[in-house]
Amino acid sequence: MHNLPVPTTCPLCNGEVICRYKQFPGYKEGQSFDIFECLQCQVSFVFPLTTNSEIYESIYNHADVLIGYERYYRYGKLTKHFSNPLLFLQNTEPSYWAVLSEIVKDARSTGEITILEIGSGLGYTTYVLRNAGYKAEGIDISSVAVAHAKKIYGDYFSTASIADIKNTGKRYDYILLMDVIEHVTDPVTLIQEASGLLSSNGKLLVTTPNKSSAPADVSLWQSDAPPVHLWFFAEESLRFMAKQLHLNYSFVDLTCYTKKFSVTQFSSSIESLRSTLPRLLKNGDVSMHGKVSVTPDYLLKARYIFAYIRKRLRKKSISKRTPIVCAIFSID
Ligand SMILES: [Zn+2]
Repeated sequence: MHNLPVPTTCPLCNGEVICRYKQFPGYKEGQSFDIFECLQCQVSFVFPLTTNSEIYESIYNHADVLIGYERYYRYGKLTKHFSNPLLFLQNTEPSYWAVLSEIVKDARSTGEITILEIGSGLGYTTYVLRNAGYKAEGIDISSVAVAHAKKIYGDYFSTASIADIKNTGKRYDYILLMDVIEHVTDPVTLIQEASGLLSSNGKLLVTTPNKSSAPADVSLWQSDAPPVHLWFFAEESLRFMAKQLHLNYSFVDLTCYTKKFSVTQFSSSIESLRSTLPRLLKNGDVSMHGKVSVTPDYLLKARYIFAYIRKRLRKKSISKRTPIVCAIFSID
């Protein structure tokens, strides 16, 4: 139960908001949320705007079979199968392409470049960067995820908050928030605190599903249901956040990615999303809608290579925009 007031203005930009959908079912059985949209910065967000870390322990406990998370689990395993895991990961999805390309083009020697991944999850992004010679480390609020990452990749991960890092006095050349801001109740504060850990000329790289890439008829909500995702940001919403925090911003141009690979665009209607819920049952187990079959290890690489070739051969539509946006925030 909650007693939060119904929003009348946008939590990001103070613009006018309207309720577009009442009682959308939650990720976990027995929950429901109203979906609001801001008329000024175009963000979609849910009410009540609350989450809890418990749901992530359930998600990471089932990451190998849970739709949406299973592919992260697979990427984690696959990084061990390729001689150049950074190149492999870069070619999987636009978000990895954007972030890794941005870091790789830095002219400094890899050993000098420090990177902090906030919300490191299963740990493979930090791992591929370390493997390529960068000084990368990861933090996550999920102790299950951190334990998994440490076990597979080594002692580069901790269950820590941004405040913990701030107290150490460490500063970083790159800070990664990959698909994190749509999960938190206060993304503005998160971006502010994360940017506070940047070294001079440092860059905060933020990826999130891009509402600006979704056709109008399906743009109210996409990807994970609340309270896993609480927000669906448009490029305009990210601009508003940057301006509010007095940060410089730009977006990574993904034309190179879309020239090389076909991209699956957002197309599910809100009713078809609704029919795939809940993903988790009340007891934290995976529901029949949430479960996928897992590719056995011996088939993993072959399946990936097949998917890679198909993605390269399929019809491409060249665009600077994909269903994921990568914003680069920096301090003057
Ligand atoms: Zn707004």
